Amino acid sequence: MTAALEPTGVAVTVRAPAKINLHLGVGPVRPDGFHPLATVYQAIGLYDDVTATPAAPGDGWSVHTIADASIDLATVADDETNLAVRAGRLLAAHHGRDDLAAHLEIHKGIPVAGGMAGGSADAAATLVAVDRLFDLRTSDDDLLALAAQLGSDVPFALIGGTAVGTGRGEVVEPVADATEPWWVVVPHEIGLSTPLVYRRFDELVERSDGIVPADPGQLADLVALLRAGDGARLGAHLHNDLTVPAYDLRPDLAERAALLDELGPVLLSGSGPTQLVLSESAEEARAAAARLTQEGIAHWLVPAPVAGAHVVDIL
Ligand code: ATP
Repeated sequence: MTAALEPTGVAVTVRAPAKINLHLGVGPVRPDGFHPLATVYQAIGLYDDVTATPAAPGDGWSVHTIADASIDLATVADDETNLAVRAGRLLAAHHGRDDLAAHLEIHKGIPVAGGMAGGSADAAATLVAVDRLFDLRTSDDDLLALAAQLGSDVPFALIGGTAVGTGRGEVVEPVADATEPWWVVVPHEIGLSTPLVYRRFDELVERSDGIVPADPGQLADLVALLRAGDGARLGAHLHNDLTVPAYDLRPDLAERAALLDELGPVLLSGSGPTQLVLSESAEEARAAAARLTQEGIAHWLVPAPVAGAHVVDIL
């Protein structure tokens, strides 16, 4: 039996996607400090890759993060607090294997603190990579339960595609999404703290200031149109309750939204600051991108929905 728990190879690379929320309905804060969510996640074609290799004998868990110059890694700690290390340790402990340790090399393609759950993608990728590296054979249900312990967005990063999220967002139910949108992703140099946006949301709700809570019927309509592949109506059904507090904190984002509005339906990604413009086709997305290039605004073009965390390389 022990042989089955030996490393299967020397390196496993897993890719996990960024998420956006096509619909983000936020309920009033609960006594435990969390907000109940009713959301529709979609995984988009921006990825982080995590490569796990067994730690050298006597070494513990370690992590190193790299990215090209467009992604600011200043707030990503290469230590025990990195969500990827926490994921690896949690999985090993789940199997009673505190003796296991790996080195994690993260290649970031998802902007940090961009509202696209990059840290959650790294945690999901690490769960899959470490499971495979040490041949732990964790069941899908256990992986989802461990993911939920790590963070609200981690279970969705495992399953990808499109899904309805409830609870804190950690209870995920896949949606058969027959639309094939392209998104023009507009990152922002300065990140926005998720807790700060929720705090401003609470303040605005208390003052009943411009926050109109999402109508649950809206989410049902959105799911129905995704199932029907009715991409033409998608733009009219995008909704994010965090837009008002995020724009209140960051008027520069509201200004940019006014410009992006000329190119297509605009969506704030989660708690921001990343913004997205919806296109029905790659051709339409390219036209919007050309305009942003003229304005000197950095952007990426990505398809959706895409797969959740999956192995891309085993050595
Ligand atoms: P949230 O998931 O809270 O909405 P986000 O998507 O806006 O966050 P992330 O890229 O997940 O942003 O990062 C949020 C913070 O989490 C970072 O500023 C960083 O301090 C911390 N963090 C811990 N581990 C990681 C990781 N592997 N990658 C990115 N950030 C991490």
